[in-house]
This record gives sequence, structure tokens and C-alpha cells, in this order.
Amino acid sequence: MIDLHCHIDLYPDPRAIVAEAVRRQCYVLAVTTTPLAWGGTTRVIDNAPRVQIGLGLHPELVAERAREVTQLVELLPEARFIGEIGLDGSRRHRPSFPLQTDVFRTILRAVADSGGRVMSVHSRGAAKETLDELEQHAGSSTPVLHWFSGTQRELRRAIDLGCWFSVGPAMLKGEKGRKLAELMPVDRVLTETDGPFTRNGNEPLFPWDVEEAERVLGGIWRTDASATRRRIRENLRTLVAEGGPR
Ligand code: MN
Repeated sequence: MIDLHCHIDLYPDPRAIVAEAVRRQCYVLAVTTTPLAWGGTTRVIDNAPRVQIGLGLHPELVAERAREVTQLVELLPEARFIGEIGLDGSRRHRPSFPLQTDVFRTILRAVADSGGRVMSVHSRGAAKETLDELEQHAGSSTPVLHWFSGTQRELRRAIDLGCWFSVGPAMLKGEKGRKLAELMPVDRVLTETDGPFTRNGNEPLFPWDVEEAERVLGGIWRTDASATRRRIRENLRTLVAEGGPR
């Protein structure tokens, strides 16, 4: 199982999540929302097999934390993965949109200058603007659009720009999300949970809950459980091998 977008550091007991992910042989990309979480999250993961960390600065935090982009750029040489970064155009975060755009540009330029990376990218309410920015650096990195919620036309543009996609149980619950997933190239799709922000009843989703996303993808791809899992594992292998740095 693969959870390419999970906020391990934001669960009440992150070490227990890491231990359980290891026990279940679940690959996890632990994205962070601020570069200040890099050191602590690295210690929590403690070289656990198949658990990787992403260096991030979440667009929802940019209003308060824009200046932390300096730390992000400093830590860049240590980071194999970037995320969570991106733009959020929802009403609540609209006021910081110009600042978000500045920060996102700074990050994309720095990542391109340091050889490119696999990047987990947020684009809620801002698919067009996110793609506009990614287009400026197309080919230098491999963006993985997490929980993409743009239009079908924007999805096609993202595919043309070389973007990958991570989809989770919450996205696939709705008709719109399922339709988008159907239109994604099967060799550029990975699973995610976005836990602990996504929930199943009273419980947050855990990395191994990607099983539900595998089930839905299997329906879309008409593959059985093991073929679905093999496809996603193969996609991860390609992403990590070819996604950067180069
Ligand atoms: Mn997230």
C-alpha cells in the first residue's frame, strides 16, 4: 500500500503511526506543512523503511508563515521530496493569494535550480493558477497534484504538463472526484489519504486506509485487488526513479 500524502506529524501519536505503517509494509510520504517541522518529523521517522518525508510550506499557512520560505530553501539540499506546497484559492485563503503566489514561485524556482524533485502539490480552488506556475518550470520537477479538484479541461492541461496525481478515499467518494480519476492516465496515479485531515466517522484516516482508494481505482481500471496494487507500486517505482532530482 502507498500513501503518497499523509501528515504523519499531525496525528496525536506520530511514532505509533510510523510503527504501524512499517508493520503493514505501507509506503508513506509524510508531507509537512512548515519547514520548522522538518527536524522533528525526520526524528520521528527515524529511518523507518518505506517512510519518506516531504519538505513543505502549506498555502493555508502562508499568511502567517511566509517568511519560513527561507528555511525551506536552506533545507532543500537535504530533501528528496517536496510537499505540501501549492496554492489555495478558497474564500478563506483568498486574502493571502498574492503572498501564496510569491512563496510558491520562490519554492518552484529554488527546486528547479537544485535539480528538481517529486513535489506533492495542493491546488484547491486554484487549479488554473497552480498550473500557470507549474508551467513556468515544466520539465524541471515532477508535480504530483494531490486531491485534484479542477475541471476536466484543467485536468487535461495538467496531464499535458506532465503532472502526476494522488487520489484518496475522500476524493473518490464524490462523483466529480471519481470522474476525474477515470480520466487520469493509469500510469500516473498514486494513492493517498491526506490524514489526519480526512476522517472516517470519528477516526482520522490512517495510511493503510488507502485500501479504499485502491478498491475504487480497481473498479475504474477493471483490475482485481492484486493487479491494482501492482499497478500503483509500479507507478511509485517510476515516479521515484524518474521524478528527480536530475
Ligand atoms: Mn494535505
